[in-house]
Amino acid sequence: MYSTRIVYNMSKEVSRREFIAGTVGAVSAYTITSNPNSSVRFINSVTNKFIDKNSINISLFQTSKVSQMNKDIHNSNMYVLNLCKEIISQELTNLQSTVDMPISINLSNHIIPSDIIDKTSMEKAFSSWESYFVNNISDEEKSLNANLLISDIPEIVETKGLGQFPCSCRNHAPISLLLNIKPLVWSNMTKLYTEKSHVFSSSSELFTTSTLLHEIGHNLGLTHDMGYAKYDKEQKIIKSSPMLSSYIYEDNMKGIENYFGDEILNIDEYDNIIVKYEPSFNPKINYEHIQYDII
Ligand SMILES: [Zn+2]
Repeated sequence: MYSTRIVYNMSKEVSRREFIAGTVGAVSAYTITSNPNSSVRFINSVTNKFIDKNSINISLFQTSKVSQMNKDIHNSNMYVLNLCKEIISQELTNLQSTVDMPISINLSNHIIPSDIIDKTSMEKAFSSWESYFVNNISDEEKSLNANLLISDIPEIVETKGLGQFPCSCRNHAPISLLLNIKPLVWSNMTKLYTEKSHVFSSSSELFTTSTLLHEIGHNLGLTHDMGYAKYDKEQKIIKSSPMLSSYIYEDNMKGIENYFGDEILNIDEYDNIIVKYEPSFNPKINYEHIQYDII
């Protein structure tokens, strides 16, 4: 019997993170390139449209409050979903690949009522999304790799997002939840990826983007130690990639070798340092690291 594996970003719960770290190795993995003809059977709850082991399929959903915020600001309720799609699509396309892996990102028109989300805790908020996903989202709207709900939950401030690893422990594809999308509602690709001053002035945009990629990354099977943190001598800042993110401050990440054998710097050795949450994955991650739910 498996427990539900939920990975918290920004969580202070050490014991939970250790539990997750201990279970990562047990996640059932399907490696695309080394085992292309595997007879792995994919989960039943998705339609044929999404049962395609030769592509990455992601669905993005939004709550009614986010939809309304988009309408008020941009006159288009899909603005932030489109921006998130562009970010994810660009960053997954930039990863190294030895195979041709089309990326399909489906923007759902199904608006999730904000009031179905229990905002009293992260666990309850996540469970609300999970039960709505299982009971109210049609198979055609679901994706095999990732199903992210973009929300605006100001009541919960400590944690910014959470996402499930792929596994053989559920009857549905991995889901994730992103809280407080607000910093991205006023942003765009140019601001996120080309404005240098933005590193210092609008870090919430970068952190939100990093968290978006972090949770999608978990749904795809990526782990914290696939990230990196480096000191940029020119800019005199530390750059932390999305999978490592704020875990750069956690003792078990300081100065260790990451998944690829690269050293994650020890942030304690730097005084008053600015950390930039990079909006791009570690380029050493490639499509062979992506896992699928199996039963
Ligand atoms: Zn995480």
